Amino acid sequence: MKKIIEAQRDFFKSGTTRNISFRKKQLKKLRNLLKDNEDRLCEAIHADFSKSEFATVATELEIINKDIRIALASMNDWSKRQRVSTNLLNFPAKSYIVPEPLGVSLVIGAWNYPYQLSLAPAIAAIAAGCTVIVKPSEIPGRTSALMAELINNNFNPEFFTVVEGGVPETTELLQQKFDKIFFTGSTGVGKIVYKAAAEHLTPVTLELGGKSPAFVTGDCNLKMTVKRLIWGKFLNAGQTCIAPDYILVDEKIEDRFLELCVKEIEKRKYEIDNNNYVQIINDANLERLSSMIDPEKVFFGGKIDRVKRTISPTLLSNVSFEDTIMEDEIFGPLLPVISYTDLDKAIEQVKSLHRPLSCYVFSSNNKVKRDVMEQISFGGGAINEAVMQITNPNLPFGGVGSSGMGKYHGEAGFRTFSHYKGILSKPTWFELNIKYAPLSNSKLWWIRKVFKL
Ligand code: NAD
Repeated sequence: MKKIIEAQRDFFKSGTTRNISFRKKQLKKLRNLLKDNEDRLCEAIHADFSKSEFATVATELEIINKDIRIALASMNDWSKRQRVSTNLLNFPAKSYIVPEPLGVSLVIGAWNYPYQLSLAPAIAAIAAGCTVIVKPSEIPGRTSALMAELINNNFNPEFFTVVEGGVPETTELLQQKFDKIFFTGSTGVGKIVYKAAAEHLTPVTLELGGKSPAFVTGDCNLKMTVKRLIWGKFLNAGQTCIAPDYILVDEKIEDRFLELCVKEIEKRKYEIDNNNYVQIINDANLERLSSMIDPEKVFFGGKIDRVKRTISPTLLSNVSFEDTIMEDEIFGPLLPVISYTDLDKAIEQVKSLHRPLSCYVFSSNNKVKRDVMEQISFGGGAINEAVMQITNPNLPFGGVGSSGMGKYHGEAGFRTFSHYKGILSKPTWFELNIKYAPLSNSKLWWIRKVFKL
């Protein structure tokens, strides 16, 4: 690993990645490689956890494609040096900001969207002019192996390479010095990454998880709310970092809400055999999720199939913040529903918890929408929608507090892998001499004056 990193450092120092045409060529190569191998990419992920071609294209490959398209179209603008005004004390200087690539970067991916979470940060790194080592999650083994095969057979490893492995390999990687680490995964492992990065003062982006609430208020368009919420929750069988983790519903509409949720779940025919659903990623997660189900609270679903490795979409009612299911991020197809009578109190309750990655509000009242969106601190969210915010590359994506730090997708990704250098450029034909000794009261008067201008 040391050798790969040293080779990448030498390549970075050669200045090749500073060339915008080089970066564009690499992104186009990646785009074509993914296009030419779309069938294999779909087959691998289907073999890992029964994800359908539709879901793979819609939630992985098209998001990657869009990031490449935007980077290709905007990279010239993003990389331009930007003139800024200069204060009078520095007259007659000019000032500008120059983005420069941070250097050798490491991207560590999570398993739930294995292509997107490994390759979208890599695209941002390439666009910004960094070299990249990607370490995908080892859990979906076929997708990890296929990414390694495709990238390593087609790119110069001194520039872009995939290193496969689990905890030992990642630990070894983290002992090395990088110029940027981009991690997607759990809050616990995020802390390990942060500590390792601190040894080398390496800047990090941490894309972590959390318990994302969805508020359903009494005046919402209930049918549309249920349709969008159920879609967002059971997409990828709830194994989505920005999926609504739990619902806070106005007590007045709780019964009708639950009734409509059941109908909606039935209508969508969530089965792996018809490609409308996916498996739980592995047995360990299946057991973890099973242990979260309190049979007395199951309102609908709760069917666990250990042979197929699935859990049917499950609604839990009469849940309170004290229940075990409210302790940790669920990250699976279990939807606890908590009713509230006082929205302000519900907001206060959410504010007392860790800051979530997402937050959703379904309401037709503008004040309520504003209250929820502004009073609660969270990574990013949506009003009358769930999960779809990730498809808009103009919205920076990332967490806050225990749900992470740093942003990506679109220009936010480019900025994440760049350092913005501030430069003052002064000609020599004039000098304001007030900073030089011998100092005097009149110079002090001028200093005070000029600083104000
Ligand atoms: P994880 O933290 O277990 O693993 C993530 C990566 O870290 C993997 O590549 C893994 O090999 C590596 N890793 C695991 N243990 C390690 C250790 N002890 N030392 C060094 N490396 C280690 O996370 P996961 O199970 O793959 O993903 C689920 C979590 O990721 C959930 O919490 C979810 O919310 C979060 N997530 C966040 C986002 C986001 O964009 N914010 C996206 C997807 C998933």
